[in-house]
Amino acid sequence: APTRAPGPAAEASPGPWTQPVAVLADTATSTDGPGSTGFAPPQSLTDLVRDMRPAAMAPAPVPTGRSMLPLGQFRDTFIIAVDDEGIAIIDQHVAHERVLFEQVMERLTAGPLESQRLLTPLVLELSPAERQALGQHQVALTRLGFEVEEFGGDSVCVAAVPALVPIAASEVTIRALALDLDGFEEGGPVDQALRQVAATTACHAAVKAHDRLTPEKMVYILDELRRTAHSSVCPHGRPVVLRLSRREIERRFERI
Ligand SMILES: [Zn+2]
Repeated sequence: APTRAPGPAAEASPGPWTQPVAVLADTATSTDGPGSTGFAPPQSLTDLVRDMRPAAMAPAPVPTGRSMLPLGQFRDTFIIAVDDEGIAIIDQHVAHERVLFEQVMERLTAGPLESQRLLTPLVLELSPAERQALGQHQVALTRLGFEVEEFGGDSVCVAAVPALVPIAASEVTIRALALDLDGFEEGGPVDQALRQVAATTACHAAVKAHDRLTPEKMVYILDELRRTAHSSVCPHGRPVVLRLSRREIERRFERI
């Protein structure tokens, strides 16, 4: 009997997005057939969407006034939110990462970050350069709440990680830190290493693209984003918010 390869079999079934779109298309076509109600859309939806050129949607500073109300997610990756001044699309990972980065930098001024001990210490094999990078930045790592020690041979032992890092993300966070800190000079400014550790930690503690979020989590991210908006720059400088202003919406619907 032929054995089935695991890869192609998985690809054969349509993804979760393909199915509903196909169903919608069928429904739309059937209304044009005999027995249709006679209701015809004035213009094809494609034209309307095309008319809303990307230029209308502009990267915007994080709003600092009233809270935005989250309506839901788009592709489990972007939060769609409204306030009196327009509609916003927020990159959920970049927004949460920025919130966590700001929180970490703020808390560090008061003392070391809260740490959580791993039930079973994590033993990881790393390259000599990666082990060296972690060894040289013990001060920054300890202040963030990491406990990493040489474990003999190629290994390091991780006994604790910051409380904000999900336990399941411990390994990937340590590996990312080893890579990101490689190239930072020994004896360089501790602040710079600290910012790097904070940025990498925030990235791995944040929600990811394709994570389903509860309404409460979306409200939390948007509220915190607004609260931390002026404090400092985003760690990676990526846009956080795209905005379609009330004025732009009203102009395009010819209301003003
Ligand atoms: Zn990130």
